[in-house]
Amino acid sequence: MSTSLADTPAAAPAAGPAGPLAGTVAGTFAAIPAAAPLAAAPAAALAALAAGDPLALFLDFDGTLVDIAATPDGVHVPAELAGLLMQLEAALGGALAFVTGRPIRELDGFLTPFRPVAAGVHGAEIRPGRGLGVARPAGAGIGGDVIDDGVLAAVRAFAAGHPALQVELKGAAIAVHYRADPARESAVEAGLEAILASGPDHLVLCRGRKVFEIVPRAVSKGEALRALAALPVFAGRRPVMIGDDVSDETALAAARAMGGFGLQVAGEHFSAAAADFSGPAAVRGWLAALIGEATR
Ligand SMILES: [Mg+2]
Repeated sequence: MSTSLADTPAAAPAAGPAGPLAGTVAGTFAAIPAAAPLAAAPAAALAALAAGDPLALFLDFDGTLVDIAATPDGVHVPAELAGLLMQLEAALGGALAFVTGRPIRELDGFLTPFRPVAAGVHGAEIRPGRGLGVARPAGAGIGGDVIDDGVLAAVRAFAAGHPALQVELKGAAIAVHYRADPARESAVEAGLEAILASGPDHLVLCRGRKVFEIVPRAVSKGEALRALAALPVFAGRRPVMIGDDVSDETALAAARAMGGFGLQVAGEHFSAAAADFSGPAAVRGWLAALIGEATR
């Protein structure tokens, strides 16, 4: 069972009955955005679309489309989410991509049968077209498809002394989750910094919501967004990035720098006052409104 620890939507109604989306956008989703006034930036993005300004949508997954869970594999994915995303991708002329810290194969597992354009592991993996294979960006200095053996062994040895920690192998990166024991934060950070101090130079520590990740220095979600935005299907469209965490900051900034929108989701990183969305349920409601506007 998943246990949502964050992003509890304050006033959003239930997302409607589970099941295939099949033409039910109006009935299933349309009531959600109307339940609470939109923040200025999401409203402006909708208005831009209404005015004929095409958008390209870039989405984080955890904490943005689904609530954070006690463990990474424990997230609850609403049954209608994959259908919503496929309908949205079609409405945007294919200009929808994920920019996530997850490996792309994990994302696929949550969104079956949708296999979207995606950057995974913060950009260490790229799928440049829907349904295509996953590749590692050439020349990115990532260091390999798997994390360095010595670093992996050291992280595992460190975590073995702290049973509440969960180590997650992510190919070119490794994550250490401390959600089960938040008081460990500074000890985990210090332990991983010490491992990196004697490890290979191409790896750095990346902070997230109750997680530290060792990732290739060369990758960032901002670079990943820029790479995806250069693909033909996204060209000439205003980018909209939606994210909830520290690692999303570079992608939010990249979207804004390209004349688009960087939309923030409330949680442990962005406060409710600073965020554009109260949580994943509000994001999903806004995406449904986007479909309505794009197909009007
Ligand atoms: Mg996230």
